[in-house]
Amino acid sequence: MRLTRRVFDDLAIWMIGIGLIIGILFPPMLVLFGVPREIAITPFFFVVCLVAGTTVGGINILLVRLVVMPRLDALVDGMRLVQSVLEEAAFTGDWSACDPERCELPVDSDDVIGESAAAFNHLIAALKFSHDIEDSVSDFSKAMTSQLELKPLCDGALRGFLTATNASAGAILADVGGELSVLSSLGIADTARLPENDHVLLALHSTEPIYVELPEGLSIQGGLVEFQPREVAFLPLVVRAATVGVIVLAGPTAFEKKSRPLSQIFARTFVMALANAMTHEDLQRVAALDALTGCYNRRFGSLRLSEEFSRTERSGVPLGILMFDIDHFKQVNDTYGHLVGDRVLASVSATAKRLLREGDVMMRYGGEEFLVVLPSATVAAAREVSERIRLAVEELVVQDRDQAVKCTVSVGYTSYPEAQSEDETGLVKIVDEALYRAKDSGRNCSVEGRG
Ligand code: GH3
Ligand code: MG
Ligand code: MG
Repeated sequence: MRLTRRVFDDLAIWMIGIGLIIGILFPPMLVLFGVPREIAITPFFFVVCLVAGTTVGGINILLVRLVVMPRLDALVDGMRLVQSVLEEAAFTGDWSACDPERCELPVDSDDVIGESAAAFNHLIAALKFSHDIEDSVSDFSKAMTSQLELKPLCDGALRGFLTATNASAGAILADVGGELSVLSSLGIADTARLPENDHVLLALHSTEPIYVELPEGLSIQGGLVEFQPREVAFLPLVVRAATVGVIVLAGPTAFEKKSRPLSQIFARTFVMALANAMTHEDLQRVAALDALTGCYNRRFGSLRLSEEFSRTERSGVPLGILMFDIDHFKQVNDTYGHLVGDRVLASVSATAKRLLREGDVMMRYGGEEFLVVLPSATVAAAREVSERIRLAVEELVVQDRDQAVKCTVSVGYTSYPEAQSEDETGLVKIVDEALYRAKDSGRNCSVEGRG
């Protein structure tokens, strides 16, 4: 029953009141137990009993205050501290003051006070946990939104996934140009075979994550990673209800409780960044490529040439270049029409591109004129590539209904520093002049340009 608005005041009233009642009832009770009335029922003895009853009540309330109050005060202080820290942290982002080690209350009693302290400590731990999750999601989102280039984006994302889940190996696979490609991987035993993995294919046809737990000794996914995994996650990357890729994460132990939901939040954030990066890459590719032939356009190709020239100057490794132009192409257009001319142009470009090495740069320099940059090619190597292209084009046949359209190319080639030049523009001038000499010498031939 509540007498005031303060529990301890109520308790004091009750304890002292009961002390008084006991003090009042004590003398008559003594009479009932046979104590003579003249001893028990005297004003002096009544006063003594009342004082004794009140004193016991007072001592009780004092004890309660001494034993219980400090614990409750500690609980209140702890809550106030956490409240102020939370209010601060919302603006500063500094949660160090809310560390469970600093804010925890001692749990040293086996009762409701101890339980309150333990519940408070759990609350702090839950707050810290939820803040840590929020922190890592926010860090991951920041990293994802600050990167538009596909490769660094995927590498950064994979690192984030591995840290968040305590997985030791993983990979990111996505549909690039209709083919499932590994965009980033770490600790995967056979990256080339990963796109054929049964679980990867299963995840690719699902929108729900697949978790494969492997009991000790069992090794279904044994060949997947360089260690014996205990748990492998296959997370589909879903954009607008369509799965566009899969994230594989493998750990030597089962994932922690938070790992599954956290990795799914990460996957949702990552897929948006991935879509942006792919669009960005597509746009860059479109901006860099010539629509008809699919090789670099002159603007982008010239940038690449400039980079290669600077690299050559630094390293001293030779830089070969060649320029070829289709012979009498006007006649092809005039005889068969522009559409056939376009097909011939695209076929010549594809034929030449097939003969180049990775790292070589081919660009459409003019209408039917191509420039090829051959890093580390000497004059002899550039001559060989020129002749290979010339002979391959000579063999090329483009079919137009029942007519076989054939053409040839003339080539000018050189290599820096065998041919001296101030810059890449000078080098282009050298092959351009060599190409004109090739045309003058009767076409369908390769001519070396000298600085
Ligand atoms: P040469 O052997 O001296 O190089 O003779 P040519 O006829 O090839 O040289 P010219 O520069 O006189 O003509 C180039 C022709 O290439 C003219 C142009 O119509 C054609 N051409 C340029 N770009 C394209 C294209 O994208 N498609 C088609 N079909 N023709 C093109
Ligand atoms: Mg021509
Ligand atoms: Mg031309």
